[in-house]
Amino acid sequence: MRVDRSLHIIAPPYRSATPSARSWCRCGHERTARGRSGVLALIAAHHAHPVSCPLLSRERSKSA
Ligand SMILES: [Zn+2]
Repeated sequence: MRVDRSLHIIAPPYRSATPSARSWCRCGHERTARGRSGVLALIAAHHAHPVSCPLLSRERSKSA
């Protein structure tokens, strides 16, 4: 299976711990976030990324 994108979230089960996340895409897009609000924003950006991704949009138009 080819991996185009990945989203890795680290959310320790301790109340005092800070969650962090890393979003990566084959086009070179990579972002990391720390803190609950930052992680939530990163997840939203990760799901919205294909719209603005040059690599994924090119493959989509090719296969259409
Ligand atoms: Zn991309």
